[in-house]
Amino acid sequence: MSSIEGVKSIADADVKDKTVLVRADLNVPMEEGRVTDTTRIDRFAPTVRDLVERGAKVVIISHFGRPKGQRDKKFSLKPVAEALSKILGMEVKFANDCVGEVAEKAVWALKPGEVLMLENLRFHPGETENDENFARRLSVLADMYVNDAFSVSHRAHASTYGITKFLPSYAGLSLMKELEALSSALDNPERPTAALVGGAKVSTKIPVLENLLPRMDQIIVGGGMANTFLLALGHDVGKSLAEPDYVDTAKTILEKAKENNCEIVLPVDAVCAKEFKAGAETEVCDLDGVPADSMILDIGPQSIADLKMRLQDLKTLLWNGPLGAFEVPPFDTGTVEIARAAAALTKAGKLKTVAGGGDTVAALNAAGVTDEFTYVSTAGGAFLEWLEGKELPGVKALKENDC
Ligand code: AMP
Repeated sequence: MSSIEGVKSIADADVKDKTVLVRADLNVPMEEGRVTDTTRIDRFAPTVRDLVERGAKVVIISHFGRPKGQRDKKFSLKPVAEALSKILGMEVKFANDCVGEVAEKAVWALKPGEVLMLENLRFHPGETENDENFARRLSVLADMYVNDAFSVSHRAHASTYGITKFLPSYAGLSLMKELEALSSALDNPERPTAALVGGAKVSTKIPVLENLLPRMDQIIVGGGMANTFLLALGHDVGKSLAEPDYVDTAKTILEKAKENNCEIVLPVDAVCAKEFKAGAETEVCDLDGVPADSMILDIGPQSIADLKMRLQDLKTLLWNGPLGAFEVPPFDTGTVEIARAAAALTKAGKLKTVAGGGDTVAALNAAGVTDEFTYVSTAGGAFLEWLEGKELPGVKALKENDC
């Protein structure tokens, strides 16, 4: 089944005069009580605007940080309510608790078209414990429930999972958009299709590779991960980050790829350095010429040229993980050049590009191309679990909802 089949969208529901409880992920970067990056709020705002315009009473719930089930002022969502209010250009009321009398009074006072944010869900231990009673206490606040938080949908918490037992449950606009984008890259991609899987270690991405093998025409392996594959092919990788214990796993993956008609694309050259620091002296090495005292820290110019050629022939590219140690220049070159090439093809309407994961977003931001990709998911854990082919509990609960 595709990751989206059976999910009801809130766009198709009648919300007029209804109290709609919307689970967002407003766990945003904050410094001294001020939101420093509004990306998540910006993405969520259209869901709120739409509900307001359709005459719903909008009640927003979210977690923020890890207060461990206790009230803690430094994890209050109040500054986030203020930031949302600015973005929406309308009042966002705030209640000091997400359940009980304080929350109930604030919700009952709401008029159609008004917006209320409730205090941090994780001030109550019942949230992360998926406590049924806590889920019920949340549910009494509203007529309908909306999940608009892909990035927390891999958690079976009271506000993402338990609550769907008690209320008619829908996907919000940004969750729908995310599921559609991800599904179009994994479930039914336009071919030829490739996944670019980079990052530090093979060991953390084995389930991802196994899930992708039967679905992709090519898997481009980069970053430290590629070094273990190079070891498996008999190359010496000097002092590079690699996992000798996973050489057999890499060999098995190469075998399975053949069986699945999926090409594993590895670097054909490398940028090496003796030290991992900004501006370190580097040399371009053949795969058989990595000095014993050096590390592979990026793909080399021939690999960049090879990948650029390959991109030209693709219709879909799914990207998770950097091609090199991109945080430290000049080892960002491979990642940045390939990101820009993929973005240009996307802009020209020739390639669909779907990317996700914390480091990947940072790398695409550094390359200045995040807005040019077809879709960039800011979800970390949820994106990886989705790449592994796992059904996310928060999405599954929406499919199974029969209230
Ligand atoms: P991951 O969290 O698995 O996606 O890995 C991302 C990390 O991998 C980043 O911090 C990169 O700096 C690191 N990385 C990528 N390529 C290399 C490499 N060749 N050597 C060491 N670290 C790398």
